[in-house]
Formats: sequence, structure tokens, C-alpha cells
Amino acid sequence: MISIKNLHAKVEDKPILKGLNLDIKPGEIHAIMGPNGAGKSTLGNVLAGRDGYEVTAGSATLNSKDILALNAEERAREGLFLAFQYPVEIPGVSNLEFLKASVDAIRAHQGKEPMDSVSFLKMAREKIKAVNLDQSFLKRGVNEGFSGGEKKRNELMQMMMLEPSLCILDETDSGLDIDALQVVANGVNAMRDPNRSFIIVTHYQRLLDYIIPDYVHVLADGKIVKSGGKELALELEEKGYGWLESEAQ
Ligand code: ADP
Ligand code: MG
Ligand code: MG
Repeated sequence: MISIKNLHAKVEDKPILKGLNLDIKPGEIHAIMGPNGAGKSTLGNVLAGRDGYEVTAGSATLNSKDILALNAEERAREGLFLAFQYPVEIPGVSNLEFLKASVDAIRAHQGKEPMDSVSFLKMAREKIKAVNLDQSFLKRGVNEGFSGGEKKRNELMQMMMLEPSLCILDETDSGLDIDALQVVANGVNAMRDPNRSFIIVTHYQRLLDYIIPDYVHVLADGKIVKSGGKELALELEEKGYGWLESEAQ
């Protein structure tokens, strides 16, 4: 599914990713943990093709396609979805309009007609309900005036509508209360599929009690320094990251 080899990337001329390797098979959930400033968000941004990130070496393929050669929009059409740590507001564009345009762009890429509005509305209503947001959120501007938790739920809803093949969640759990955390976890678990993979960046072991990852990786100083099963998250919770940094040197 996704194969990242020796990835090096710079932000504003500062090397952040320094030889990152990661292979994710279809259906797998990989959690990425690690100290602040390690490069976790940079990894998501580089994969999603956001401006300001310069890849200086290495490769990343999604379903055997070189995604680094594509722009952000093309990567989204290839099935990559990045849920931001800080979701952006798009005032003046309703959630519904935004979703319709996004869903239809992906369909067009797959050679399909735009979705008919009746089926689309039905699907949107179902998904907004699944994330415990009131139906009125469909008509509101994208994230406009939403609380932190509402933005995260809304993003999860976008992800459900777009049915991506690779979902990257960057600290989607930070700042969420326990109910919202459950909504995110239930949403991800409902989307688990043999053809879909997840990268879940989190600071807290707690989320991984609800979303059981296949692998846990520690990203430190721009590289994966340790990988293990879900028990690694518990070990990190107990011991912190210091022991790994000394191990890696
Ligand atoms: P993490 O998500 O692991 O906490 P980040 O990927 O956000 O880490 O950041 C890694 C490093 O890159 C940090 O030192 C951060 O200050 C720097 N960085 C990230 N984005 C930018 C940017 N737009 N401009 C300058 N420095 C950045
Ligand atoms: Mg951080
Ligand atoms: Mg981050």
C-alpha cells in the first residue's frame, strides 16, 4: 500500500526528516508516537504534499504510484487523506458544498459521474449522525466557529465521506474529551477495511486502547527509532522517550 524509503525532507532549509522508512500493508493501522518536534506532523504534511516542505532524498509510493511527483490535490484523488492537528476554517463554503465537490472530484478521477444529490444528501446525513454532530452542521461554513472537538468530528465525517485508501490522523485525539475520543475511535474502527490503511499520530496511549494498532513506531529526530506491537505504546507511557534516544545513538 504505502512504502516510504529513506525519506529526507526540509522545512525552511532545516532538515527535519532524516532517512525515514515505513511500510504499511493494506488493512493495517500504524501508530506513530514520539517527542515534540520529532517530525511527526512534517511526515503527514510531506506525504499530503503541503507547500513549504522540500523532499531532498528518498521515495514514497502509494499503491505503487510515486506520490511525491503529484501535487496535493492529485494525492487526495489517489486516496490519501490527512486529518490536521489544527483543521482549517473555510468561511462562506458550506460543509455540504465542500463535501460534494470533494466527493465528485474523487469520483471523476475514478471515471465516475458526480453523485446524484439525493444519494449524496442521504450519505451526508448518515455520516454526520455517525460522528454525533447535529444535521445543522452540514449547512454551516466548513469549520467556521466550530469548537475544537466539533472540528475533529467534522474531519472524521469528511474522511468517512471520501473513503480514502490511506488515512493519516495527526493528533486527532489531542484536546478531545472522552466522548469525542470514543467517536473518533468508533469512526476509525468502522472504517477499518482490508483495503484501507491508517497512520495515527498520537501522544497518548489512551487512544490506542480504543483503536488497536497493528504496529507502533517511535519517531525521534526525523527517523523511526523503534517499532513494535501495541505493547510498545504502554512501555512508552511508562518510560517516556529518553531511553530510546540513548539507545539510538
Ligand atoms: P512533531 O509533529 O513531531 O511535534 P513537527 O513535524 O511539527 O514535529 O516539527 C518538526 C520540526 O520542524 C520542529 O522543530 C518544528 O519547529 C519544525 N517545523 C515544522 N514546520 C515548520 C515550519 N513551517 N517552519 C519552520 N519550522 C517548522
Ligand atoms: Mg507536536
Ligand atoms: Mg505534530
